[in-house]
Amino acid sequence: MVGAAGTPVLTAPLPQERGGNNSFTHEALTLKYKLDNQFELVFVVGFQKILTLTYVDKLIDDVHKEFRDKYRNEFQQKGALGLLNGTFDFKDDFMRLLRDAEESSKVRAPTVMKTFEQSLKSQKTVKCMIETRGEKPKEKVKNKKNKGSKKEGTEAVAAPTKASAGDKQLSAAGEKEELTKDEILQKNREEFFRRHMKAGEKSRSPKPDAQKEKGKKPRVWDLGNSNAKVLDYSNSATNGSAEACPVEEFDPDMALGDKNREPGRLYDLEYESDDEAEEEKVVQNSSKPSVKKGGLGGMFGMLKGLVGSKSLTRGDMDPVLEKMKDHLIAKNVAAEIAVQLCESVAKKLEGKVMGTFTTVTSTVKQALQEALVQILQPQRRVDVLRDVMDAQRHRRPYVITFCGVNGVGKSTNLAKISFWLIENGFSVLIAACDTFRAGAVEQLRTHTRRLNALHPPESHGGRTMVQLYEKGYGKDAAGIAMEAISYARNQGFDVVLVDTAGRMQDNAPLMTALAKLIAVNAPDLVLFVGEALVGNEAVDQLVKFNKALADHSMAQTPRLIDGIVLTKFDTIDDKVGAAISMTYITSKPIVFVGTGQTYCDLRSLNAKAVVAALMKA
Ligand code: GDP
Repeated sequence: MVGAAGTPVLTAPLPQERGGNNSFTHEALTLKYKLDNQFELVFVVGFQKILTLTYVDKLIDDVHKEFRDKYRNEFQQKGALGLLNGTFDFKDDFMRLLRDAEESSKVRAPTVMKTFEQSLKSQKTVKCMIETRGEKPKEKVKNKKNKGSKKEGTEAVAAPTKASAGDKQLSAAGEKEELTKDEILQKNREEFFRRHMKAGEKSRSPKPDAQKEKGKKPRVWDLGNSNAKVLDYSNSATNGSAEACPVEEFDPDMALGDKNREPGRLYDLEYESDDEAEEEKVVQNSSKPSVKKGGLGGMFGMLKGLVGSKSLTRGDMDPVLEKMKDHLIAKNVAAEIAVQLCESVAKKLEGKVMGTFTTVTSTVKQALQEALVQILQPQRRVDVLRDVMDAQRHRRPYVITFCGVNGVGKSTNLAKISFWLIENGFSVLIAACDTFRAGAVEQLRTHTRRLNALHPPESHGGRTMVQLYEKGYGKDAAGIAMEAISYARNQGFDVVLVDTAGRMQDNAPLMTALAKLIAVNAPDLVLFVGEALVGNEAVDQLVKFNKALADHSMAQTPRLIDGIVLTKFDTIDDKVGAAISMTYITSKPIVFVGTGQTYCDLRSLNAKAVVAALMKA
């Protein structure tokens, strides 16, 4: 499947071959490395293991970029080996990059080490270390730049407001969904929050009030006509330029959802796994295997058998692998990927000698779990806050482009990311480059108003934290993005978020336009937005977007997708397979996960939580 897609970028090595973790420790030394597949280069940094060098990732990234850019022509003409045989002078560049990286780490990390007694860990039991939604974490978020902004954000939330029911909804696009589909989504969503509640109840120090407030309240789902008012854009002027949309009155509680979170912090996805309990039950009642049909518990129960110290054969594993493959497919992992995964696990285990008390099923399950976690852990972490600060130092805005098909949640999640950036003290210019879909500009205007209501200039020393740059409809999106970036540079905005028109992956003219927008504007980050709801379809979209960007780009080295925003995670219960499929096929990290319709329904991916959900019976 990978080869058939036809572009080098789609090469997805088998899990055990992939460096989910690009570091290697040997005795007192740690090596970190980065591969450049295009020019076949390896960049390695070695340092004493005991040193905690926070800038190593940055250093290796910067050296990679600079070295590649400096010698790009030589690589293209002579290849990497040709260059190495000749002479190249990179020492001064390296020393400069090293100094920069050291400096940047000093700016970013003025942390003082706590004693164990001071640390939260000293008060925690293992159980309460499982973070639950709604429970306010006491730990400070790293990379947070501006303490003032956090406070201000909280104050803004407390401001008294009133609004119509329609205005309370974060999104203006809910009418697209059909009622029956929405009902299913709502059911799944309730299930998602039920799990979170369950996890919360189990934690050591629950906050009773917070627990009461969250989750259990019936959610107003933005169906059909409920947001008709929001969708009435007839009064909007649509041919402005950059505008600090006026502050709009609305209910900030609805926009913010969970009040107990720490502003600006991007929480990890959580998922409660009851698979452990399931497994324990099987071990205790090994004479009475679980008969739950189709589930993993059933599978493990039925196929359980002690192997003793014999080596594993394909025949031992095949029945387990078959069940496992079906289980993965039932969890929305693309069928071909489920097959490849099981195959790679089989190859890894074949001939392995088993411990006396180990079962085939538990061995296979563990190998699969490890492979899945490795797939989800990005080879290269995208640290948006760090990169924004870096851009700030170079006095330029950091640019993120969002692309994907229609209705996946591009604008909504762009707004959530704006909110998160603002809470971290960064100003945002939203570039309305969806000049195609009626209502797209107005939807962004509504978000801009609400974000301004939550973070008014008064709370930020008179600074407007979010502005919309728009030129109405029908114009060239690449040109608007370019103008927006230059406007942001002149006005001192920290980040430009470029919304693009939704397009089907097979639409060649639109894909060419997107490739042009990306080639012309060279954003720092190209994010593909995909729904967790669709299994194989999301993979198809992602593969074709990447391929189309490669095919339709005029540039010598086409710019491709750098990362993924996985949306509507709250609507899939434990059918989390799309996350696996998407990362497996592209080796690109899931940078953000959308978990709802409020501004704080944004998470970072937690590989272990996703794998726990995936393995759950
Ligand atoms: P776009 O066409 O890609 O810009 O999509 P929109 O941002 O307009 O979103 C389409 C619909 O998906 C809207 O109803 C959003 O509220 C909804 N949506 C977006 N992200 C999420 C999410 O993470 N969870 C849920 N439940 N709904 C979402």
